[in-house]
Amino acid sequence: MTEFLIGIDIGGTSVKIGIIENNGAILKKWEIPTNISNGGMAIVNDIWLSVREKVDSLNLNNTSIIGIGVGAPGFINAETGFVYEAVNIGWKNFDLANQLKEKSGLPVFVENDANIAVLGENWTGAGNQAQNLIAITLGTGVGGGIIANGSILSGENGMAGELGHIHVEENGYACNCGNRGCLETVTSATGIVRQAIEKIEAFPASLLGETYKKNKRITSKDVFELAKNGDSISNSIIKNTADILGRVIANMGVIINPSKVLIGGGVSTAGDQLIDEIRIAFEKHALPRVIEACEIKAAHLGNDAGIIGGAFLVLDKLHRNV
Ligand SMILES: [Zn+2]
Repeated sequence: MTEFLIGIDIGGTSVKIGIIENNGAILKKWEIPTNISNGGMAIVNDIWLSVREKVDSLNLNNTSIIGIGVGAPGFINAETGFVYEAVNIGWKNFDLANQLKEKSGLPVFVENDANIAVLGENWTGAGNQAQNLIAITLGTGVGGGIIANGSILSGENGMAGELGHIHVEENGYACNCGNRGCLETVTSATGIVRQAIEKIEAFPASLLGETYKKNKRITSKDVFELAKNGDSISNSIIKNTADILGRVIANMGVIINPSKVLIGGGVSTAGDQLIDEIRIAFEKHALPRVIEACEIKAAHLGNDAGIIGGAFLVLDKLHRNV
């Protein structure tokens, strides 16, 4: 009998759910809105009702589902599936794993959402089941995850792999974490826009300045598009962004010694230019043997990484072969 896994990726606006085959193929995927009212208390019930409905409509045998793997934002105890705090959702001291276990009668495993995306990407995506891997997600913020010696690196209290908060700029911009000059303040979409605004103030007559005047705003996508069309100021922003990322990866190279560094997230989809420039900066700063072992490339799975990673988590925790 074919076995199935349920992969769940909980975000602030939607919950992505997938029924995944035990080879990582997606049988069915869908989304439901995240009901954050009343401290997010209805979410577990919403998820389970939706899963049940789908399992029934697909005529799947209940016993063919072997477990549920969940990625959730915030501070999580991956051992127990307890969520200390998930600000976007409203959970505080929320026993996610046990609640879902009670409803479903299935084994439930929970991980931080960034880590679960890394597990998915490493299973069926660009990671190709690497034993040592760094993933960096460039979106509104900067997230990340690390696989070291074949396992997700969680650290003493879950903070390992929070790459967005590596310090890169003395007296830099204030970060959401309370510090200044974190990687996230420079290389996220927000950070790129901030760099662009600085350039526009210095060079209002530039192509970037003209675009800003015309659209009354500037986006990171504008910067990439203008760079592609040869705008030197936009190019300098991408070079600066890539240089900082390349240096961070070079430094991490002597800690993790990865075979792969995967760059994902909305910013990374703007084209090959950023990843090409990151590679150049990395090779300028890293040790030769680190460079030799390491490939820097784009992540593949996009939004599916979380649900596939959730399924992988179940197999991994139940010690099934993958
Ligand atoms: Zn920070």
